[in-house]
Amino acid sequence: MTRAARAAAAAAILSLTAGCSHAQRASAETTVAKALISDEQENQLGMQVKQELEQKQKVKYLDDPQVVSFVKGMTDRILPLAEKDRPGVKWDVKVIDDPKTVNAFATPGGHLYVYSGLLGAADDEAELAGVLSHEAGHVVARHSARQMVDALGLQAVAALALGQNPSMLSKVVAGAGGQGLMLANSREDETEADEYGARYTSAAGYDPNGLITFFDKLRKMEGSSPGLAKFLSDHPTTPDRIAHLRQYIAQKGLSGSGGHDRGTLAALKQKLRGGNPASLPGS
Ligand SMILES: [Zn+2]
Repeated sequence: MTRAARAAAAAAILSLTAGCSHAQRASAETTVAKALISDEQENQLGMQVKQELEQKQKVKYLDDPQVVSFVKGMTDRILPLAEKDRPGVKWDVKVIDDPKTVNAFATPGGHLYVYSGLLGAADDEAELAGVLSHEAGHVVARHSARQMVDALGLQAVAALALGQNPSMLSKVVAGAGGQGLMLANSREDETEADEYGARYTSAAGYDPNGLITFFDKLRKMEGSSPGLAKFLSDHPTTPDRIAHLRQYIAQKGLSGSGGHDRGTLAALKQKLRGGNPASLPGS
C-alpha cells in the first residue's frame, strides 16, 4: 500500500468507529497504527531506543563468550519460529550486564534485551525460553503500535508514519525515558505475547510451562525482596493470566519436555556471581 492509500484506509476505518465504545475505538486505532507504521520505521525506532540505552543510560552488555553463546544457542532455536510469523525482522539479542535487575524486554525492530539478573533468577532453560519467546511475541504482534498510540495519540502516530513529523520519533524515545520505550503493555497484549511465547517455546523443543514456573518463582522472590523482580511489575501475573496460559497450553496440545537440564545454566550462574567453575558442561 502506498502512504496515501494507507492514510485513506486509516481515515475510513476511523470514521466507521465514530459511534463505537472506547474499547472498540482503541482496538480500531491500534489496527490502524499497526498498518501505518512500516517495518523500516520500527527499525528506526528500535535503533533510537538502543542508542538511548547505550549513550544516555550507559547500559553495558555482557561480553562473556560462554554466556553470550548460551543465550544465542537458545534464540537460534526460538527466533526462526518468530521469523515465520513475521518475516523480515532483523533480530538482535543482547545480555545487559546488571545482575541486580531481573528483567527482559523487547523493542520495535526485533531487539531483545535480557538482564544478567534474569539469567541468575532462572533455574533452567525452559524458563528462559519462556521469557525470550514471550518477548519475541511482543515484536511479532507489533505491540509497540498500541504503545505509541497510547503515548502520542493516533493523529501524531499517523503523522509520524506518513513522514509528516519525523522529529516525533526522537520525542517518543526521549519521552519514554526510564527504560527506553518500555511503556506498559496492555493485559490483552501480555496475553497475546504469552500465547506466542508458549507456541515458540514448545516448537523449539522446550517445556512450554517454563514461563509459568518462572512467574511462580518471581512471585515468591517478590515476597522476600520486593522491587527486585522488575519483570514482574512489567508483567503482572494475575491468577487469570496464569490460568489462561495453562488452559492455552492444554487446549493447543503444546508439548515439549526439553530445557530442564540445569547443569550449563548453573555453571554460568556461578560464573556470573564471580565464581570460576572448572568446567562448563555442554558449552
Ligand atoms: Zn510482556
